Amino acid sequence: MKLEGLSILGQARVKPAGKPNAAVNPATGAVIGPDYFWSTTADVDAATELAAKAFVEFSRWPGRRREGFLKRVAELLEANAADIVERGHLETALPTARLQGELARTCFQLRQYGEAAARGLCAGARIDHADPNRKPLPKPDLRSMMVPLGPVVVFSASNFPLAYSVAGGDTASAFAAGCPVIVKPHQGHLGTSEIVGLLVQQAAREGHAPAGIFSMLYGAGRDVGIALVKHPLVKAVGFTGSRSGGRALMDAAAARPEPIPVYAEMGSINPVFFLSGILNQKPEELAAGLHGSVTLGVGQFCTNPGLIFVERGDGAKVFLQKLASLMAATAPGTMLTADLCAAYRAGVGKFSQASGVKRLALAGADLGPGKAQAGAALFVTDAETFLKNHHLMDEVFGPSTLVVQCASRAQMLEAAKRLEGQLTATLHGLPEELDANRELVEILAAKAGRLVFNGFPTGVEVAHAMTHGGPYPATSDGRSTSVGTRAVDRFLRPASYQNFSDAVLPDELKESNPLQFARLVDGKMILP
Ligand code: NAP
Repeated sequence: MKLEGLSILGQARVKPAGKPNAAVNPATGAVIGPDYFWSTTADVDAATELAAKAFVEFSRWPGRRREGFLKRVAELLEANAADIVERGHLETALPTARLQGELARTCFQLRQYGEAAARGLCAGARIDHADPNRKPLPKPDLRSMMVPLGPVVVFSASNFPLAYSVAGGDTASAFAAGCPVIVKPHQGHLGTSEIVGLLVQQAAREGHAPAGIFSMLYGAGRDVGIALVKHPLVKAVGFTGSRSGGRALMDAAAARPEPIPVYAEMGSINPVFFLSGILNQKPEELAAGLHGSVTLGVGQFCTNPGLIFVERGDGAKVFLQKLASLMAATAPGTMLTADLCAAYRAGVGKFSQASGVKRLALAGADLGPGKAQAGAALFVTDAETFLKNHHLMDEVFGPSTLVVQCASRAQMLEAAKRLEGQLTATLHGLPEELDANRELVEILAAKAGRLVFNGFPTGVEVAHAMTHGGPYPATSDGRSTSVGTRAVDRFLRPASYQNFSDAVLPDELKESNPLQFARLVDGKMILP
């Protein structure tokens, strides 16, 4: 596919007047063509106006038609997999096998969210029949369903160039909800974004969708990104990235005359607790499992376990020794961008100098400064130091982790209570230890979106029951998930119709249930 570096404005390609930028190969530092032209505020106006216009028609599309569109995007991605993976590998240094897997996940998401729209899973139809004889007042006929919010702005993630980028989870869930999307691509994969964006544009054309259903504007977050968030025609935002970036979008959205929701998935250190029974039983096996999780994908996962709690003892000693030897022997990996690597090195440097913290391992300590190469790092501290130093909860995005040694179970509980909101929390224990540690389970359940037992948090299943969210600061809104079909709910709002005649009600709420959706009728779930 020929890349031109132009933004996508509905069915048009435009060459914005902004400055040109090029992609960079993080493994070599080499510039990869073509130039990408940064959009201007005039492009933001054009894309949002087109999206608002498209919303009028697209919001009325039946779920089945939305499903057809999402399926077509998936088919086109599959048909162009070789180009996507080749360019993705050049721009991100992610192995091709990983990119192929991520592409499969992206297509699965598109199909699953489409199916959810077609089956009415997210419509949430409810009917309360009228009761004219109710005393003291008659009861009206009330029917409600979830309706789309309007144009959604999606900020692509650096660490998922496909599954959380142009046609990724945020875009798929917004489309499934019936919302047009404007993407602000990540600078770490400009060309991959262009290929995927052109395929979404093609699917929209083939499906006779209104032009503004999809646009993609290249540019800087603080400039084009903020202009999009502030634009009055934009009604919601999806984001994955840093806490400072997410917070900037939240603040900009809240300061608008009409505030809008921002669904930002931000940092998480994903604490893992090892109880002493299981640690004494298989310390080396647990160390190997943890090492695999910390170093997976050069540690560039939002579910990377960055904070580990153990109780002091023989098991903990063997566990730490094994973990230190594995981390020290880990081959350095190329990170997604030089900026991410610089942030990683700075984080490792900060922890290396923190008082009361000891560095047990740093792989490839003599890496040159020019490339995006990162070595695995392991730190250890005690619970007293951890409890006194809030900054030890800072995310170090990359293959690094901090082990906190607790003198007692009470200290472990105290540390758990101090944790901020997390995407995940993990507990390793023997079955009987789980029962004896209910308080710890309850504390963690209040802190995290997903609790993992005897496993590791990396690897997020795309499933109806998945929660990939969590209390602030893990996300901007702990009531939401960005993975799984509930992700669609983020771009919907409830709306009720009171005493309307069947002829004018949406199909989802007609008495005869023509769409055959599951509905809550007079308080009872009625299946078709
Ligand atoms: P980022 O710096 O937050 O950037 C993500 C997107 O947000 C980019 O498009 C960026 O625009 C935009 N942005 C950033 N700050 C902004 C601001 N103040 N106003 C408006 N837009 C803004 O995230 P990143 O590049 O992916 O990585 C940086 C750090 O994010 C990592 O070191 C890591 O700590 C964290 N991270 C966390 C996760 C997670 O899932 N928890 C995932 C990835 C990264 P530009 O194009 O101008 O940069």
